[in-house]
Amino acid sequence: MSTSAFASASAVPAPAPAPGPRRPLRGVVFDMDGTLTVPVIDFPAMYREVLGGDAAYAAARTTGGGAVDILHCIEDWALDKQRHAYEHMVFDHITYSLHIETKLLEFVHITNMNHQFRQGASELCGFLDAKQIRRGLITRNVKDAVDLFHQRFGMTFTPALSREFRPYKPDPAPLLHICSTWNIPPHEVIMVGDSLKDDFVCGKRAGAFTCLLDETGRYGPHDSLPEQVKPDFKMSSLTEVFTVMEEHFDLAPVPAESRI
Ligand SMILES: [Mg+2]
Repeated sequence: MSTSAFASASAVPAPAPAPGPRRPLRGVVFDMDGTLTVPVIDFPAMYREVLGGDAAYAAARTTGGGAVDILHCIEDWALDKQRHAYEHMVFDHITYSLHIETKLLEFVHITNMNHQFRQGASELCGFLDAKQIRRGLITRNVKDAVDLFHQRFGMTFTPALSREFRPYKPDPAPLLHICSTWNIPPHEVIMVGDSLKDDFVCGKRAGAFTCLLDETGRYGPHDSLPEQVKPDFKMSSLTEVFTVMEEHFDLAPVPAESRI
């Protein structure tokens, strides 16, 4: 993977990674799709269909430095072309009507949320609650999907920022907004997600700790990642995040009277 897509991530110095003195941690911000839920969509196949074939997909990957930001691709198109693109995102996943064109992509997610929560997600959230560590959520999906996720997961993340919050990841704005809402500095927060180009960049640019969830090893060994795109931690399961929390951080509870 090219590192150019992450070049802007170096704008804010990264916090000192472990090992070393334990750093206070008072908040955890999660990505939703692929992090708290198990990914079930063949995104490359969908991108090829939406963009118009292998050549267009390859061109978009080149433009994006090895990654495709499909939302930005579509936003730049004329409205009639956007409609055509969204219709091609339907595939076999959609059982909803097509009349809400701007939500078809999200319906892909919603339709597939039947619901496959990642192993350890509920336990990790319960652990954070017991330690009085705040839990937030940032997703490029829409609010409808977050609402459904909350309903089925049975735990609510506060704040939970969806695509309606602009600018969305990888911009650091949503993470900085959550930190501001919590009144907790970013260097006492960790961003946990499965995407280097979105979650890691968002977290690093905000000045937070970063934890990459890489269940399949698609990003390779942690040590093999260039320093400018290396998260503070790289885990293959949410269960391992327990270890990160307990071994590398001083879990500082947020007083009840200041909890939102
Ligand atoms: Mg994700």
